[in-house]
Parts: sequence; C-alpha cells; structure tokens
Amino acid sequence: MIIVMKPQAPESSVRQIVRIIEENGLEAHLSTGKQVTIIGVVGDKNKLTNKNLELMNDVDRIVPVTETYKQASRKFHPEDSIVKVGSHIIGPGTLTIMAGPCAVETEEQLLSIAHAVKKAGAQFVRGGAYKPRTSPYSFQGLEEDGLRYMAKAKEETGLNTICEVISADAINAAVKYVDMLQVGARNMQNFQLLREVGQSGKPVLLKRGLSATIDEWLNAAEYIIAEGNPNVVLCERGIRTFETATRNTLDLSAVPVIKSKSHLPIIVDPSHATGVRSYVGPLAKAAVACGADGLMIEVHNDPEHALSDGAQSLTFDQFDQLMAEMKDYIQLAGRKL
Ligand code: PEP
Ligand code: MN
Repeated sequence: MIIVMKPQAPESSVRQIVRIIEENGLEAHLSTGKQVTIIGVVGDKNKLTNKNLELMNDVDRIVPVTETYKQASRKFHPEDSIVKVGSHIIGPGTLTIMAGPCAVETEEQLLSIAHAVKKAGAQFVRGGAYKPRTSPYSFQGLEEDGLRYMAKAKEETGLNTICEVISADAINAAVKYVDMLQVGARNMQNFQLLREVGQSGKPVLLKRGLSATIDEWLNAAEYIIAEGNPNVVLCERGIRTFETATRNTLDLSAVPVIKSKSHLPIIVDPSHATGVRSYVGPLAKAAVACGADGLMIEVHNDPEHALSDGAQSLTFDQFDQLMAEMKDYIQLAGRKL
C-alpha cells in the first residue's frame, strides 16, 4: 500500500509514520514530490491493520497497491525516475543512444566502432562479451578479454559502456570494466541473476523476455530493485508472435503502457526486434515519437562478416544517416541527446 501525505505535510509527521512502519517489521520507501510525499510500504500490511494510519496527522489517504511489483510501480513513485550512469542521465528530457556491435570480436573492431558511433552522437557503446546464443556451437563471446576492450573503448572515446551478463562470474568480471550491466531477453526471468545484478551496485538494463507480459517484466525489475538497486532501465526488444517477416514483433505500445504503470525509464531496441537492417530506422524514429527514453542499435564495421547479427547491424554510414534523420524527431519529442 501507499500512504499519501497531505500537501506540505511536515517532515516530523512523515518520520513518525516511517517509524511505525519500520517498528512493525515493514519497509518504508519515500517519494518526495514537489507537492506531496508518498510513503510506499513493502511487507505484510496486515501487521498495520490496527494502527489506524489513515487517522494520523497529515495523512491524506491510503491506497492499496494490488500489483505484485511495488517499487517498480508508478504508484510508489509518481515522478519519472532518472537513472544516472556516471554523469549521463537516462530519463525525462534526454534521449540515450546505445550503439555498437552485437558481439565484441576483436580490439580493433570494437575501437573502430566505438569511435564511429561516438562521432555520430551515441553516448554509449554496447557490445557483448558473453553471448547467450541459441546454438552452443555459435560464437559465445570473448568474455573477460572482450570486457577489457570495452574499458579501452571508454578510455579512448569517453563513451559509457554496457555489456550483457549471463552468470554470477560474468557479473563479477563486468563490474570491473563497464558502466552498466545488461540482462538479456533470455534471462529476464533468471531470478538468481536478477538478484545478483541487484547486488552489483551497477545500473542495469533489463530487456523484455521473448514471451514476457508487461507484468512479468515489471516483476523482474522488482527483483533487482528489491536488492537495493533502483537504477533499472527497461528495454523493449520485440516479442514472439505468429509473424515471421521480422525476427520478433516490436511492441511499441509497451512504451506508453510502461510509462503509465511504472516510473522506470524505457528504451527500445529496433535491431533485435526486427532482425532486418532496413527496418531499424523507421522503428527507431517511431520509438522516439512515442516517448521512449532511448534506443539500442547494433552497428558493425563489416556487417557481412559479423560473428553475430550481421543482418540487422547498420554500417557506419547508415548509422550516421539515421542519427541525422532522427534530429527532428528527437526535438519534436522534447528531448536532447
Ligand atoms: C543483445 O543485445 O545482444 C541481445 C542478445 O539481445 P536480446 O537479449 O534482446 O536478444
Ligand atoms: Mn545481437
């Protein structure tokens, strides 16, 4: 449940209620807005039934939260969240572009791509060092060497870095080298992994599972936040449908739906959503137009010879052109790169 305080309720009243909540073995989460303070309560609310909180000083009302996720809910935190990665801000007013290869293949490959996407205006270089491939015989990633190249790319370009993690070992290595961890679609309901990224102290990009509902996705985010890590960004990357013309079906409606249900930022990945390079641009623009906080786009120096996802990767020139074409959309959406 949430306890909505009256406008301008003094801090002493808020503190008193927080004390009662905590004394009864529950957690209190404060959201201090411009007008009102909201106290979110996590735990067995039956323990508070005879406390008559609604009658206490400066309490406006008590609202039950029926969703199983609480801290990811907009009811708990009515204002849009901002997720900081170093000095970069993901959230309202900004548009974050994460671009780079599907997989880190060599140091030269990653550095050349990092320089190219930086020049085009991206703020993050992405690249997988641990690849969750459908076939065990496909390229699985360079692991710690790949992470080292990511750190080098950051050093040379100043870009923020993001890398997918698929195990506790990968997390332990990645936290030493990259700025943000990615949980991929295939691991969205790997609850142990979610807990571990929650404990990592790093901001997390949580991709939507291949067949996950929005509620399942927000519950996955809750696992991370419940470990004390509120820095979660969601990523819509297409879902499984009957349609085979594209690799997945991009569910752009997820953007406004997430915005209404949650305060977490959401970005869109049109590359994995479509699997086809020529469809990436139109959907990138549509994502910006419908309120996404950013984009993740695969870019490769030589897509024809990429070790994974070449068909959906943009060339440097194509990415440059898309970034130029998106300028007006970004401005119209009231955002800044
Ligand atoms: C990726 O971003 O490299 C990736 C594997 O994406 P997804 O988890 O969305 O399939
Ligand atoms: Mn990929």
